[in-house]
This record gives sequence, structure tokens and C-alpha cells, in this order.
Amino acid sequence: MLEIKSLHAGITDQEILKGFSLSAKSGEIHAIMGPNGSGKSTLANIIAGHPGYEVYSGTIKFGNSDVLALAPEERAQQGIFLAFQYPMSIPGVSVAHFLRLALNAQEKAQQKTLTGVAGFIKILRTEMKVLGIPMSFAERSVNDGFSGGEKKRLEMLQMLVLNPKLVILDEIDSGLDIDAIKIVANAVHILRERNSEVTFLIITHYQRLLDYITPTTVHIMQDGIIVKTGGSELAHALEKSGYVGL
Ligand code: ADP
Ligand code: MG
Repeated sequence: MLEIKSLHAGITDQEILKGFSLSAKSGEIHAIMGPNGSGKSTLANIIAGHPGYEVYSGTIKFGNSDVLALAPEERAQQGIFLAFQYPMSIPGVSVAHFLRLALNAQEKAQQKTLTGVAGFIKILRTEMKVLGIPMSFAERSVNDGFSGGEKKRLEMLQMLVLNPKLVILDEIDSGLDIDAIKIVANAVHILRERNSEVTFLIITHYQRLLDYITPTTVHIMQDGIIVKTGGSELAHALEKSGYVGL
């Protein structure tokens, strides 16, 4: 379902991914762990189509699509969703308006009937209730003055509204307390209950989040490649002995 083959990529003059390969089936949860600077965010950004990175060689296939041949918005329309490590704020644009535009853009691309205002408010109410987010959140400007936890909640709300097929969470747990981590894990479980085919790439520095989301597979990434792959026990081993110990 997701097949990344010997990906070499980076920024001008600096190779960051040095032959990265990974293959994940539908419905699997793959955790990618690794020290800072190992290229985890670069990988996430390249899958989503960030224009600041250059792919020198290698392939990314998702379902039948050649991901690298698609524009970033086409990737999103095909169900690729990246929750950002540092979400941007958009002063003057409300959460409700932003999410409806995002949903409508996706519906348009998929030639579906566009959800109108009334219908959207119903969806939003339901999803906010599911995530335990107060309705007042909907009228605030996107990420403007949001706490770290609120930003991540909005990423999860966006995920549930857009109903993606491939979810990439890039260090969504960094700086979050346990309650906020549980909200993220809960959102992941809800999406999986709705659609057991969703594939997850969970990028994290710490094992903590994986106490609440059990991964199918854990990969350790170092200097642009995967150096070790195992089951969920690998995350625990890492917690005990650190990256150096492995
Ligand atoms: P991680 O997410 O694992 O911490 P990154 O993918 O953010 O790693 O970064 C990997 C390496 O590439 C780091 O040395 C980082 O400084 C460098 N790097 C990543 N993106 C950029 C960029 N846009 N400009 C300059 N250097 C970058
Ligand atoms: Mg990172």
C-alpha cells in the first residue's frame, strides 16, 4: 500500500535521506523513531510534497499512485494527511471556515457533492464532541495564540474531518502532557474504528505515545536510513538503553 524505495533526497547540496526504504500495508501502524537530525521530518515533508526538498532518486508508491509525480494538493486529495510538528497560524481565518474549505476542496477534487454550511456544522459538532473540544474553538483563528495542546487538537480535528487513508504524525507528542497525548491516541483509534484500512506513520522521539498506540512495526532511523526494524518491543528497548545502546 505504501512503498518507499531507496529514496535519496535533501536540500540543495545536502543529502538528508540516503537510500530510505519502507513498506507498510493497509491498516498497519509504523512508528519511526530516531535521534534529532536523522531526517524524520524531511521524510514526512517529502511524502506530503513540501516544495523545499529535492528528491534525487527513488520512488514512493501509495496504492496505485506514483506519489512523487503528484502535486502536494493532489496527494492530499488522494488521502495523504500530514499532521505538522509546528502547525502554522492563520490569523483572521476561523477554524470552522478553514476546515470547511479543506473538506470542500477535497470533495471537489473527488467530484463529490460539496458539504454546505449547515451540514458542515453538524459534522464539526460531532467531531469536536468526539475529541472533547469545546464549540468555542470553532470560531477562533487557526492556531492563533493556541497552546501546544490546542494546536495538536486542531490537527486531530482536521484528520477526522478529512478522513484520510495515509496519516503521518510528525512528533505530534513533543511538548504534550499525558492528557493531550491521550487525545491524539483517541483520535487515532477513532479513525481506525471507522476505517480499518488507514495506514499510519507515527514519527516520534519517545516511546510514551506508543504506550497508547500500539505499533505494528517500529523502525529506528539514523542518518537518513532505517538502521533497525522490529515489533513494538523495540520501542521499549530504546526507552531503556537509548539510541546509543542500540
Ligand atoms: P529530524 O526530524 O529527524 O529531527 P530533519 O529531517 O528535521 O530531522 O533534519 C535532518 C537534517 O537535515 C538536519 O541536519 C537538519 O538540520 C537538516 N535540514 C532539514 N531540513 C532543512 C532545511 N529546510 N534547511 C536546512 N537544513 C535542513
Ligand atoms: Mg523532526
